[in-house]
Amino acid sequence: MDSYKIAAKLLQGARHAIAFTGAGISTESNIPDFRGTQGLWKRFDPRMASRGYFLEDPNGFWQFYAKRYEYIVGAEPNAAHKALSLLEEEGIIKSVITQNIDRLHSKAGSKSVLEVHGDIMMSRCDCCGEQVPTVECIKFYRDSGSAPTCGKCQGGLRPSIVLFEEPPDLIEAAFNIAHRSDLCLSVGSSLCVYPAAMVPEIVKRRGGHLIIINYDPTPLDGIADIVIREKASAALEAILKEFDGR
Ligand SMILES: [Zn+2]
Repeated sequence: MDSYKIAAKLLQGARHAIAFTGAGISTESNIPDFRGTQGLWKRFDPRMASRGYFLEDPNGFWQFYAKRYEYIVGAEPNAAHKALSLLEEEGIIKSVITQNIDRLHSKAGSKSVLEVHGDIMMSRCDCCGEQVPTVECIKFYRDSGSAPTCGKCQGGLRPSIVLFEEPPDLIEAAFNIAHRSDLCLSVGSSLCVYPAAMVPEIVKRRGGHLIIINYDPTPLDGIADIVIREKASAALEAILKEFDGR
């Protein structure tokens, strides 16, 4: 039996399957990933996405985030996002846990989405928590050339996403879902950003199945039931074709 057939069988037999997604699922929507050949970290220093950099050089920080926002704001979900939304509609996938900040799962119609690294479309004051749409922050940055500040307390505004050196606040919720799940379909994640990458590991270590779809090898390939090195959309469409009754 080929990998797609086995993956379809495992998904159909799962009681509580979840999807875990990373930047690789959105590259086909023209949003660059981090570690791939065209990845962001080939052009930018990863430190630009850190809390330390935000505090030290807010203008440089916003220059980087204005660029990331630009990639994301016009992007549309691709066939891989749509396949996961369809799997949820059919009752197979119960939740999508994503490391992405691009909202594309929700745009594709997925209802139960946990964005463990936040959402770039909203920003907040780092001091008082006041919420501001990121589009306003970018406009301020572009018009004035300096980092936006809070209208209430003058604190620094930053996107409502998890920066390096910050704990992901929804990670406990993601772990709780992982503990209830018997299958994790990991799509487009290099599985090397911890603690988020513990999600598939938890599912596997408590006796569930792990299917990995990723173009490049990941550190969890050795414990996965199936590893598919293919583009996310092609792999998910091939799995959907193997489903009984189609
Ligand atoms: Zn404030």
